[in-house]
Amino acid sequence: LTFGDEGDEEDWVARPPVVTVMGHVDHGKTKLLDAIRNSNVVAREAGGITQHIGAYQIVTELEDYERPITFIDTPGHESFTAMRARGAKVTDIVVLVVAADDGVMPQTVEALNHAQAAEVPIVVAVNKIDKEGANPAKIRQQLTEYGLVAEEYGGDTMFVDVSATTRQGLDELLTAILLTADASLDLRANAEQDPQGVVIEGKLDKGRGPVATVLVQRGTLRQGDSIVAGDAYGRVRSLLDEHGNKLKEALPARPVQVVGLTSVPRAGDTFLVVEEDRVARQIADRRQARIRNAQNASMRKRISLEDLDAALKENRQLNLIIKGDNSGTVEALEEALMKIEVSDDISLRVIHRGVGGITKSDIDLALADDVIVLGFNVRAEGQATELANREGVDVRYYSVIYQAIEEIEAALKGMLKPEYEEVALGTAEVREVFRVPRIGNVAGSIVRSGVITRNSKARLVRDGVVVADNLTVESLRRFKDDVTEVRDGYECGIGLGSFNDIKIEDVIETFEMREKPRA
Ligand code: GDP
Repeated sequence: LTFGDEGDEEDWVARPPVVTVMGHVDHGKTKLLDAIRNSNVVAREAGGITQHIGAYQIVTELEDYERPITFIDTPGHESFTAMRARGAKVTDIVVLVVAADDGVMPQTVEALNHAQAAEVPIVVAVNKIDKEGANPAKIRQQLTEYGLVAEEYGGDTMFVDVSATTRQGLDELLTAILLTADASLDLRANAEQDPQGVVIEGKLDKGRGPVATVLVQRGTLRQGDSIVAGDAYGRVRSLLDEHGNKLKEALPARPVQVVGLTSVPRAGDTFLVVEEDRVARQIADRRQARIRNAQNASMRKRISLEDLDAALKENRQLNLIIKGDNSGTVEALEEALMKIEVSDDISLRVIHRGVGGITKSDIDLALADDVIVLGFNVRAEGQATELANREGVDVRYYSVIYQAIEEIEAALKGMLKPEYEEVALGTAEVREVFRVPRIGNVAGSIVRSGVITRNSKARLVRDGVVVADNLTVESLRRFKDDVTEVRDGYECGIGLGSFNDIKIEDVIETFEMREKPRA
């Protein structure tokens, strides 16, 4: 999804910053998020029964800054990476938690790598300063090596000393977040556009059925809206905030629970609102029919249904051996990799894992088809390298989990043979809609780029959102004549088969799928 400068200026409203807390395990992320949540006025008014819904909004009680902030609070805190891996940008600011009695650790570095790669500003929370042995100056010193230079050292990163236990420094941390937001971000969103956003987490609730926590990113989500989230759809029966309060509407950067979907969407799925339930269902159906993660208009790499069917029949599996420098990273890597889904029937299996360098016995084990050996901050021993080279075993080295995820995801997609890529043919803008008896609606259009060709594949784009995919140009006419193609600048009538939901100003994109040369 793109969130460009659209709509009228007066429709743009200020929105709160969206913050993700990241850092090394045990440095206090969970406790800090709890401390922030519990110290805010809204939570207390609701009687303290705050449910965990994956994201929450607080209103700061600071003197000059009575303003809301949205925190993403998902277990494991891997959602930032998971969402980034799926193309969704959720976070405006990363709070990097570093324990003052410990120091910069591997996951600290990984977290800051992710934040820097996503060009998200970082506020450093130096936590546990209540502890004996806390050395906040050392943390500042260590992080300069990674380009995070504290303001007091002449840099531009805000460091705040905090204790999640004594709550010392929490106000300063919230202030730093807001100052960073004001200094480096334009936090506005169009509240009048068609609502769009991203799923933070989804679950099946015993009483209420599928429940998704979503973050509205633009527009205003309202009770009663017809919504598509990933390949789930439905009518928004109720919107609930983190205290279980019913909301009539949710503005940009508001996390809400959505009740009323027919199935459970996944973290990182984007959602959009359409005019009718029927359209929501159509879009969801089409998405279900495709590979589950190919759901985004910007996703140009598409895989045809035929290929998917072939892959389904073969039921492929990619085997992994994971070696790493310590058990924590091996576990974290395995956990992150197991979340990759390319399709239901192409699966990943970790056949062996361990701490230490890659040995000859690891390579022996890998001498089967489709095994990739991953070394995380470790290397293969001499004999192992020799054997791997001789037998052509795929050994890969990583020091950043995100990169490993990307490459393994690419490897899984590579197993869907052959891979196709989409080649754009032309676009046409709908000027009028004609109702033709027995044929249905025909789009009176003007070709805006390229060529519109009869029988080519097509999709329909409305206000920048793909409302229907997998269509075919079934009829093409100029005046009364059937033609095979119409070029840029000319008017024509386009029939999309049984698909009739065509509106003036819709854009018809046509394309073909070409087999991609294998690398
Ligand atoms: P996470 O793995 O980063 O989410 O870390 P947790 O929030 O689970 O905290 C790990 C441990 O550190 C827990 O035992 C916390 O009680 C403790 N802890 C977290 N923050 C502080 C703090 O500011 N001071 C002290 N003394 N202990 C803390």
